[in-house]
Amino acid sequence: MATNIKKICWSVTLFLILNPVISVALLLTYLFVSDNYTATQVISVSIFGLVFAILTNLSITMGYHRLFAHKSYEAHPILQGILLFISSGAFQGSCLKWSSDHRIHHKFEDTDKDPYSINKGFWYAHMGWMMTHEAVSLPVQAPDLEKNKMIKWQHDNYLFAAIFVGYAFPTIIGALLGNAILGLVIAGGLRIFLTQQSTFLVNSLSHTLGKTPYSLDKTAKDSFIVTILTHGEGYHNFHHKFQFDYRNGIRWYHWDPTKWSIQLAALIGLANKLKTVQFSEILKARLEVESIKFKNTDFYHEKLEPLASRIVDAQARFDKLKAEYRSAADQKMDELRYEIELMKIEINSMKKTWKVLIKSRQPVRVVAQYTHPR
Ligand SMILES: [Zn+2]
Ligand SMILES: [Zn+2]
Repeated sequence: MATNIKKICWSVTLFLILNPVISVALLLTYLFVSDNYTATQVISVSIFGLVFAILTNLSITMGYHRLFAHKSYEAHPILQGILLFISSGAFQGSCLKWSSDHRIHHKFEDTDKDPYSINKGFWYAHMGWMMTHEAVSLPVQAPDLEKNKMIKWQHDNYLFAAIFVGYAFPTIIGALLGNAILGLVIAGGLRIFLTQQSTFLVNSLSHTLGKTPYSLDKTAKDSFIVTILTHGEGYHNFHHKFQFDYRNGIRWYHWDPTKWSIQLAALIGLANKLKTVQFSEILKARLEVESIKFKNTDFYHEKLEPLASRIVDAQARFDKLKAEYRSAADQKMDELRYEIELMKIEINSMKKTWKVLIKSRQPVRVVAQYTHPR
């Protein structure tokens, strides 16, 4: 028991427990005892708190996770700055530490080296691991991220950044909406608690309950509940199989607001080099999982295996043809654009000639009009 207590990192543990307890107690006391607030203030601060919660979660999924930990796309420094600013207020540690721990989780999934291995229990994977010195002092192993000055600054000044964005910023917005205390408690403390808990579910629930369409080797699962709560991070079985794909929900209709936000950022020039896995590879993984129970049988070797390889080959040829069609279409578009530009230049040049010709004749007519009445 004494040894277990020594393993506890009290600063993190107390924060994780006291933040929600104090926030709820303060909110209830304020609402029931004080009469220094209006219903409009409660509603407007709550709406801001909800929007800020959505943005906080998005900055973790789009920033910490898919951009920095996995490098599944590249982002303009402006977008990197925005994501790092908002995610500081999530109280999930610095981007450097978070990404480093997460890369270790992927590399050593379900083993003793996995910082939040589900094999140590649901509670441990959910948040128990963060309460230990072992996890808090796990060395950072992300030299590529250490070279990024914004990430380094956030890491070196994390406590200041977290308190400013997590508590001071919502208090200021609350004050602007007419009530600083509600801003601090609802959009500060309670938002931190709710966004933390939803992110933690990826490590616990998504490694416990759900579907396994792409891989049966490890515990990661596709969980619809987690998907809804974490802007698409619940497609965790797919994510562990293809961690460098910027999407977690691969179909356009799969609920993955993080994927859509990255696509939107690419559309306005703030993101590029979005990485995706060939669809034939994804299909291959699916077919393997679906036929796994027949493995080592004659039926598998004679029927399933050859058909699977024909399907995957056909899909690869289809992907290639589609890519060629797109690039051919792009080439044709370039040719047409060039021709349009040439036509534009030709028309403008003719119009200019037209104007010159008209002007060259005008003075004669003007003189005639002015002289005629006399
Ligand atoms: Zn995982
Ligand atoms: Zn990941």
